[in-house]
Order: sequence, then structure tokens, then C-alpha cells
Amino acid sequence: MSVHSYLLYFLPVFAVMIAVEYAIGRKRGIKIYTKDQSIASLVIAVGQRLIGLIPFSFVGIAWFFAYENRLFNLSTESWWYIPALFLGLEFFYYWFHRLSHEVRWFWATHSVHHSIEEMNFLAAYRFGWTGRISMASIVYTPLCFFGFSPTHVVVMLAINLMYQSWLHTNLIGKLGPLEGIINTPSAHRVHHAKNADYLDRNHGGVLMIFDRLFGTYVPERDDVPVEYGLIKPPGTTNPIRIAFHEWGNIINDVKQYRIRDWPMLLFGPPGWAPNGDGMTSAQLRESYRAKALHGTQKADQELQQIA
Ligand SMILES: [Zn+2]
Ligand SMILES: [Zn+2]
Repeated sequence: MSVHSYLLYFLPVFAVMIAVEYAIGRKRGIKIYTKDQSIASLVIAVGQRLIGLIPFSFVGIAWFFAYENRLFNLSTESWWYIPALFLGLEFFYYWFHRLSHEVRWFWATHSVHHSIEEMNFLAAYRFGWTGRISMASIVYTPLCFFGFSPTHVVVMLAINLMYQSWLHTNLIGKLGPLEGIINTPSAHRVHHAKNADYLDRNHGGVLMIFDRLFGTYVPERDDVPVEYGLIKPPGTTNPIRIAFHEWGNIINDVKQYRIRDWPMLLFGPPGWAPNGDGMTSAQLRESYRAKALHGTQKADQELQQIA
């Protein structure tokens, strides 16, 4: 069974969550769900599920091959089996997610999840359709090689994704001492932001500890309100165009640039362009900081002049 098929069991809880969020929004007079965006999220979620019924996956074959040749025969009876699987999966989820942001081939699928421009529980299920082509899940293969069965990896991954459903909301504020330890709605809002300071941050699933360890944790700031969506938005609510938006960008770039640039255009960071005139996260952050610094220097000079 695929990861997302397990999420179907969660559907009743999920429906209640959406209904409650919608009702709170109406009561407070806030528009949490707009019609076109919600239909797009729903169609993308259903489409993703239907595509998931195709019973063939290269990554699945790699996982089973790794498990057949595993290093250890782990006892599922041991007290540490589930905690070790949880922590191991969280570690590889961090890298799966981080690489889904830093490698354009993987981003082509994951960017669909980041196309949401309004944060709500329904948007949590906007998953890309082309995971079987991007194959970012190959990142989990070492878990199977270590000795965890592919089925157990899939179940733990499904639990991890179920946990993340409640993170997609603007209604829950900061959670005090839990911030920076577990993944919270506040931490995940930052993850979905396109502000230069927030880009490609907070990749953890249930925990934030690997973000802190590898330097990608950023807390939500009151003075930097989150702006949701993509740097280059699809500019449409057509679900099919959203699902293939980044693949279209890749094809355009490949046509435009020389063959020797193709490896970076396909597997380099999203936004990369030859001659350094691209807009990668690192470049965006740098130019934002330079502008901010310039602004501060200008303000300092003005202050000195006044003084
Ligand atoms: Zn992401
Ligand atoms: Zn998300």
C-alpha cells in the first residue's frame, strides 16, 4: 500500500477539522477558504490519490531490494524498534523534504504543495502528482537497508504526514516552549512562506530538532508577516496547470539554455540560471539582506545629516 492510501483512514477526522476551521472563520468574519483555491486543492488531492493507484514504483523496488540485502535483522518485538523507526524516519524525512526544496527535479513535484496561497487544513493535502517521476522517496532507502521493512517505513511515514495535517492553519498561534522542538503551525507557516528570511526553512515532519542541528530552523517573527505561495506563482487555479507548473518551467529553461547547463537546470537549486542571474533561495536571501543593509546605511547617513 502506498503512503497516501493510509491517509484515507484519516479522512473523517480531517473532514471534521476542515468543518471546524471553516466555522471558526465564518464566526470571526475571516475568509479562510476561497472557492477557487479550495476546488484546486480538492481536485489536486483527488488526482494525486488516483495516480497513486498505479501499482508500479521504481522507489518501491529500490526499498525492497535494499531490505532483501539488509544489514540487520531487527526484532520488531524490541522496545526500541518503534522509537528507532520514528527517529530514523524523521531524520530521513528531514533530508527528503530539504532535498525536495534544494534539488529542482524533486521540487517540480513538491512545489505543488507550496503553491497554496491561503493556509488551511484542506491545503495540507495538495500533494504533487509526479512523485513517481521525481522519485525523491529514494532518500528513505537506507532505512530499509538498515533493516526496517518497507511496509513499516510506509506506515510510519503515513503517521508523520497525518501529524502534519494540523500544522496548516493560521488559527493556532505560537505554542510556547514547544516551538523549536516539535513541528507546530507557527513553524510550518514559516516553511510555507516565500519571504526571503523564511525561504527553505523548517523542513522537519514531527520534530524541529534536525532543523536546529543542520541550521535550517527559523521561528516565526511578529515583524515579518508570512506571505504564502511560490516565488514564481502559477498564476492560475487550474489544478492541472498547478500540478505541472514547475515541469513546464523546466522544459522552457532546457529549451532556452545550452546542454552544458542542463544538469544544473535539472538537479541544481530551483531558480538557478547560468551566469548567476537566477533567483535561488540563497541569492534571494543575499539580495534581500544587501537591500536591508543598504536601507539601514542610508537611514544612518540621513540621521547623521540631521544630527
Ligand atoms: Zn516543503
Ligand atoms: Zn505543508
